[in-house]
Amino acid sequence: MATTAVMARRPGQGGRRRPKTYGIDRRCHTDTCDTLLSRYNNSEFCFQHAPVKYPRLRGVFTEDFEALRA
Ligand SMILES: [Zn+2]
Repeated sequence: MATTAVMARRPGQGGRRRPKTYGIDRRCHTDTCDTLLSRYNNSEFCFQHAPVKYPRLRGVFTEDFEALRA
């Protein structure tokens, strides 16, 4: 039978992982822009040129909202 060891952790200890990085010296893919992207930014564009992302919406879509999407 396989057992899985569960290590005890004190609060404030452990769980300290380096943030994922995506390489340094990456520039925005927009031709006219040479903003240096953060190594923590996994987008190919700087914030100004990144495609607009809409957060997941919860709840009911109103008719106005549906009209905007159509
Ligand atoms: Zn840009």
